[in-house]
Amino acid sequence: MLKGGGVSETAGGSPGRGGAGHFDHETDLLVFGSGVGGLAASIFGTKRGLRVLLCEKSEQVGGTTATSGGIVWIPNTRQSREANCGDSEERARLYLKIELGDYYRSDLIDAFLGSGGEALAALEDGTDVKFDLVGWPDYHPDQPGALPKGRSLQARSFDGRELGDDFKRVRPPIHRLMLLGGMSIGADEVPHFLRPFSSWKSFKHVTTKLLRYAGDRLRYPRGTDIRNGNALVARAYLTLKKTKAEIWLNSPLVELIHEGGRVSGAVVCKDGRNLRIRATCGVVLATGGFPRNPVMREKFASHFPHQQTLAFTGNVGDGINAALAVGASVDTHLASPGLWTPSSMVRDAQGNETAVIYGYLDRGKPGVIAVDRRGRRFVNESNSYHDIVMAMFNHARETGDGKDALYHFVCDRNFVRKYGLGLLRPSPMTLSLKKWIDSKYITVGDTLEELAKGIGADPKTLAASVQRHNEFAKTGVDLDFGKGSNAYNHNLGDPGVKPNPNLAPIDEAPYIALRIHAATLGTTAGLKTDGDACVLGGDGRPIPGLYACGNELASAMRGLYPGGGVTLGPAIVFAYRAVKHLAAQGKAT
Ligand SMILES: Cc1cc2nc3c(=O)[nH]c(=O)nc-3n(C[C@H](O)[C@H](O)[C@H](O)COP(=O)(O)OP(=O)(O)OC[C@H]3O[C@@H](n4cnc5c(N)ncnc54)[C@H](O)[C@@H]3O)c2cc1C
Repeated sequence: MLKGGGVSETAGGSPGRGGAGHFDHETDLLVFGSGVGGLAASIFGTKRGLRVLLCEKSEQVGGTTATSGGIVWIPNTRQSREANCGDSEERARLYLKIELGDYYRSDLIDAFLGSGGEALAALEDGTDVKFDLVGWPDYHPDQPGALPKGRSLQARSFDGRELGDDFKRVRPPIHRLMLLGGMSIGADEVPHFLRPFSSWKSFKHVTTKLLRYAGDRLRYPRGTDIRNGNALVARAYLTLKKTKAEIWLNSPLVELIHEGGRVSGAVVCKDGRNLRIRATCGVVLATGGFPRNPVMREKFASHFPHQQTLAFTGNVGDGINAALAVGASVDTHLASPGLWTPSSMVRDAQGNETAVIYGYLDRGKPGVIAVDRRGRRFVNESNSYHDIVMAMFNHARETGDGKDALYHFVCDRNFVRKYGLGLLRPSPMTLSLKKWIDSKYITVGDTLEELAKGIGADPKTLAASVQRHNEFAKTGVDLDFGKGSNAYNHNLGDPGVKPNPNLAPIDEAPYIALRIHAATLGTTAGLKTDGDACVLGGDGRPIPGLYACGNELASAMRGLYPGGGVTLGPAIVFAYRAVKHLAAQGKAT
């Protein structure tokens, strides 16, 4: 069995690998991994009347998808047409051509745009999976072809009670992002929870939700009013449970069976036994890439040095390694090998450190700057999480800081009171900073000079950076990085702050710094595939019977981030393409 922590070299193809002989079980479509890629492929398979077996390594379904925002980016969907968002395939193509530049691959983008709307509709029609438009602009809204709204959609919230006992089989969201140890909160609910007494509506919303949660906790391990990626997984899981699809938990892929010039099945470990499963139509790999495999990170992502990831712990490259062993190849010709977010590190009572996602309340808000190890600004802080980390890497290269790069967000007490900072929630939820200072989560100084010393920056440079930024806050124009100059920035800003919703002075002591690290949300380097998600061998030809989707394949977005949902969206579309293609090939005899 291929174990996490290692990487196999590209083998030149090895017909007969996995051995010939009897099979313990037969299906038409064999899927590995139960994140968005695997769940979608399984649903598409059942809709085409195929026998489906979905094998998941862990004891729960959902992978990283279950902890995600549940946003999908797919242009020109039924929803965007109904809302008259003005999208078209041509417009989206124009945007992507500019966004992806030299990395644009017309075969992948034609496939993505050609099937996007159809795939999303197929995932929704006659199933429990539902998406609604969110009012987000594309991430670079001033580029030709960008839209102010219409391409990002979110999975609709879900009542976990519909799954009954199987609710416990859905992997929960990130613990620290839930309230009271188990209550999911959607972005639309945040204002109610921040100011529950500001209106009758907010008060009612919060009390109703709290009462429901209290009741839930008598029967369930967490709240059943679920949101975001968790709702997406639960909805897809419920859909599959209503079909004849088989779902095997605790059943990892061991190796692929390659015989007679095609992948004819795989060896799966179930209840401690290795079973040979025949797949008459094909095998879809969707085991979530390699974010948790340090050896593969070094091999495929060494030019973006990082240690942190927020992806599921089980995603150690099993699918990629199994495919490499039958002659597949990995595509690293990408703008970056990951999808990035700044993260902060929190230490538990035992001293273990965990990466936590960039503040979901304070992100992009006015009154915070990001600085390098000298105390110099280097980025528009209201840009996307991905763009901030890409700027961290670029800046480290330009300054020669390399692996020694050190970055902080710097703000003042007023900012934390209003918006929070990382894990610190806004007032009145964080009344004292003491616990956070003692655990070294934040650094605090009564003056900027003192803060600079605390974080190892140059006091004069930091003070000058803050002073210059404060001048921009007065004029409303960030002459250095254009913060608050586009619709994406404004969407994250505070509309009550004038003249620029993304700029406010940093001038109320104490001053506070939060160290930030580059972390992946998932990997984008992955198996080389064609537009039908067929895995390509070292010779560039499809390996018959073998498909990949989700983060298993090299991203069609090539490690760039045109809009919210650029992993979940393409994962669904390429799962659709894969199943359509393998079903059209017919069953191998
Ligand atoms: C906090 C957070 C928020 C995010 N929000 C968004 C968002 O809103 N929109 C967006 O597009 N992206 C988002 N992302 C990124 C996105 O969630 C992931 O890139 C995506 O979920 C990957 O999907 P996947 O199906 O490839 O893998 P996963 O969802 O991780 O599923 C992979 C599954 O494969 C299983 N597996 C691993 N090895 C084996 C094996 N040997 N055999 C069988 N099964 C195996 C794993 O256990 C896991 O269940 C977010 C990520 C994070 C961390």
